[in-house]
Amino acid sequence: MDSEQLREYGHKMVDFIADYYKSIENFPVLSQVQPGYLHELIPDSAPIHPDSIQHVFDDIQNQILPGVTHWQSPSFFAYYPANSSIAGFIGEMLSSGLSIVGFSWIASPAATELESIVLDWLAKMLKLPQEFLSSGQGGGVIQGTASEAVLVVLLAARDKFLGKFGKNALGKLVVYASDQTHSALQKACQIGGIHPENCRLLRTDSSTNYAISPAALSEAISTDVANGLIPFFLCATVGTTSSTAVDPLTDLAKITKSYGIWLHIDAAYAGSACICPEYRHYIDGVEEADSFNMNAHKWLLTNFDCSALWIKDRNALIQSLSTNPEFLKNKASQANLVVDYKDWQIPLGRRFRSLKLWMVLRLYGLENLQCYIRNHINLAKHFEDLVVQDSRFEMVTPRIFSLVCFRVLPSSKDEGLANKLNHELLNAVNSSGKAFMSHTVLSGKYVLRLAVGAPLTEERHVNLAWNVIQEKASTLLSTT
Ligand code: PLP
Repeated sequence: MDSEQLREYGHKMVDFIADYYKSIENFPVLSQVQPGYLHELIPDSAPIHPDSIQHVFDDIQNQILPGVTHWQSPSFFAYYPANSSIAGFIGEMLSSGLSIVGFSWIASPAATELESIVLDWLAKMLKLPQEFLSSGQGGGVIQGTASEAVLVVLLAARDKFLGKFGKNALGKLVVYASDQTHSALQKACQIGGIHPENCRLLRTDSSTNYAISPAALSEAISTDVANGLIPFFLCATVGTTSSTAVDPLTDLAKITKSYGIWLHIDAAYAGSACICPEYRHYIDGVEEADSFNMNAHKWLLTNFDCSALWIKDRNALIQSLSTNPEFLKNKASQANLVVDYKDWQIPLGRRFRSLKLWMVLRLYGLENLQCYIRNHINLAKHFEDLVVQDSRFEMVTPRIFSLVCFRVLPSSKDEGLANKLNHELLNAVNSSGKAFMSHTVLSGKYVLRLAVGAPLTEERHVNLAWNVIQEKASTLLSTT
């Protein structure tokens, strides 16, 4: 590593990225390229001789950027946000600069210790129960994604139950969730060897705003027990991906407690809002949970990837995921004096991800982070007001956090036509390049989702998106 070359290239790259952010509003939010576009532009094999940095920058500008969907654009309203910030960015830079691989404490003590400390900080900001803190039997760990978080806790719960009922009981283990639960759970069940017929995705509808009904859960569990099956895992969601539904944690926890079922709470998106006292009640009941996850990379200004997972009994994870090969043995681990995060996750290697979260928490502070969340929720309220004021549109579910689920209505009450119209409206808005939204389907209705959450979004961007939506809707309605 030549430090002077790093300085030169690094400064150039920071300038490039700073200019990118300055001009980000000029790009179409959703990339407009066609599949395979890059094969036409980039050679089939790597160069034999070194290229110049200037040449590479030119190609980034001309070949890469056209194929980028601009997640950090203020007019990005699709899926859920994936936040970045200067604090998160410089944390990532430092992590990349130090380039350690912190699988065990000895491999880089600061990486392990900072992660435990910062996750304790975040747990306190969320007012998670004491048992999730590293001072007791539990603790926090940074996973890459919520999918990894749910997978590792499902494996821990599975192995705990197999320890009790014997390995042959695998085919009898039953998982519960709602039909709104993220598909990450289904993937975890596939990997964990849970029989596909033993994944109960309880039906939800508009009567509970797409949250799980405790009565339906109780009934499903009773039936399974009567049939000789073993209920072992409930994944409840606070802020579902489709519509931000919030499962009733306190009531669900009473049921899981009475059957000894592992309760996991997935608050990947909405967890961030719970740092504000006025939204914290959405995770009331977390005291009874065995594990809880939220993605700081979604809505807490921490650059991807940073999914925080807390567990009350860290030994359950360790028993499921630990290995102890000779080549990793060391005094601190053997003496059981330290946390070795390799035993809390699927891969061995791990990045120094806590740096970026540490930087975000330090450089913003709790009060600013709360203002940040509130601002997005207010912008979403503002958009909701605009929708409600236009009689051609309807809200499909009540807005809770910063996601608005709405649709345009055709003049006739034909559901097929309504779905087609909304699909076309989404395509028209997204291909304009002026805003990017996504969709879901709820009770057979094709629904438009506008999620406010990009750090640069201001009221004028929400208004612009609404103008585009209204304009495209007018054109479509005049032809249907
Ligand atoms: N859970 C919920 C509620 C989500 O909204 C998402 C993604 O949007 C996920 C899980 C999966 O997240 P990840 O991409 O971190 O695996």
